[in-house]
Amino acid sequence: MKIAFYGTKPYDRIWFEPMAKEYGFDIHFIEAACNQETIFMAKGHDAICIFVNDYVDAAMIDELYEMNVKAILLRSAGFNNVDVKAAEDKIVILRVPSYSPEAVAEFTMAMLLTVNRLTHKAYNRTRDFNMSLNGLMGIDLYEKTAGVIGTGKIGQAMIRILNGFQMHVICYDPFPAGGLEAEYVSLEKLFKSSDIISLHCPLNSDTRHIINRETINMMKKGVYLVNTSRGGLIETEALIDGLLAGRFGGVGLDVYEEEEGVFYEDRSSDIITDDNLARLMTFPNVLVTSHMGFFTREAMRAIARTTLENAYALENGLPLVNQVGTESAT
Ligand code: NAD
Repeated sequence: MKIAFYGTKPYDRIWFEPMAKEYGFDIHFIEAACNQETIFMAKGHDAICIFVNDYVDAAMIDELYEMNVKAILLRSAGFNNVDVKAAEDKIVILRVPSYSPEAVAEFTMAMLLTVNRLTHKAYNRTRDFNMSLNGLMGIDLYEKTAGVIGTGKIGQAMIRILNGFQMHVICYDPFPAGGLEAEYVSLEKLFKSSDIISLHCPLNSDTRHIINRETINMMKKGVYLVNTSRGGLIETEALIDGLLAGRFGGVGLDVYEEEEGVFYEDRSSDIITDDNLARLMTFPNVLVTSHMGFFTREAMRAIARTTLENAYALENGLPLVNQVGTESAT
């Protein structure tokens, strides 16, 4: 199988190159992101392989179909960046539903601890021998209320971690899971009673801008909000207004609505034209990271393995256990 691998970074090759040899796949590594301008590069390949900030819209699906490309191999769990409906009966979409939920949950806690206890600022200060504590006061997490939105694999891993801090954990999910050390409540109750809120639901038409002006106004003053799920869950302008009004103790964003083309790239020498992102960076209580919750050795190895197993199953007519179906599309 010939695979056009978009958005290649050096850390992708470490895992994919040796494993592709095991399966006998011919991978063409392309640095460019997959978009309307670069889709022509898929010609001559059996499949394309994409990540979270690539996209495939309906017109691109038609182009891929004409090029006789059989599959879109997602190196991610989320598939909001592909027009699943347009791909029906044309191209198979295969994803990596789970690789290391703990990687993302552990990173979420790292973000929460950082925005709360400001260790990133302390690090910079002490390197300059500025040993002042002014402005570095945080809160105890112990016995505070944590609200988890979305109790799938990552949400459940997060609940386990939050319980380790002896927090009172409440959660919301339209499809509750059994046996969790957390109390399911309504979304409204979660917004009103949480000291920290962590987002772990997928981005779909129900969850887009689940954090908006109305829900921000329901939250406790001084709430901590962490989003390691998808940027579109938060209405950025409403978040900025909430930050300006001093409603948040801290905000950790590993994902951002308009991250495509900026996240994963070195843009340090460029003029940043996204005013909202630039504004977010100016708040002392906001921490932005570049969609890296997944980024552990264990997760990268598992992503490569499942992606290539998906391709192997397709090539050999085996059951496609990780196929994205239109029933779960948004
Ligand atoms: P999952 O499918 O196991 O769980 C998602 C949960 O969200 C499910 O229980 C589902 O019922 C629930 N849900 C659906 N609609 C909801 C709604 N309206 N309100 C609340 N909950 C709702 O997925 P997961 O593996 O736990 O991943 C969660 C999300 O994390 C993914 O969708 C992806 O966007 C994100 N993610 C981010 C990174 C990163 O690097 N930052 C890595 C992997 C995944």
